[in-house]
Amino acid sequence: MSKNPGSACHGCGICCIVPDISTLGKPMWVPCVHLSPERVCTIYEERPAVCRNYLPDSVCDEMASIPTESERIQHYAMAFDVLQPSVTSTKR
Ligand code: SF4
Ligand code: SF4
Repeated sequence: MSKNPGSACHGCGICCIVPDISTLGKPMWVPCVHLSPERVCTIYEERPAVCRNYLPDSVCDEMASIPTESERIQHYAMAFDVLQPSVTSTKR
């Protein structure tokens, strides 16, 4: 994948679910406590630098056309080579 200035965030929220974010005490595969059920950041204006600095990339572009959240999670995990737990559904 690559950081592409032309890539846009389509609000899937997967980057707020799969990676660990130590600044937030967020473990891998656990949705951020600030992510709403609609997959919106509830502290968007105050979100930490690690979130502000995360830029959409080609993986985001690819995921835009993937219809389900579980498939998008799978695609993200494969793209970033993140080991997936046996329970894959993180829907709250
Ligand atoms: S994974 Fe990409 S498209 Fe999805 S919310 Fe994060 S930045 Fe946006
Ligand atoms: S603080 Fe907001 S942008 Fe950062 S991981 Fe949580 S929900 Fe996502």
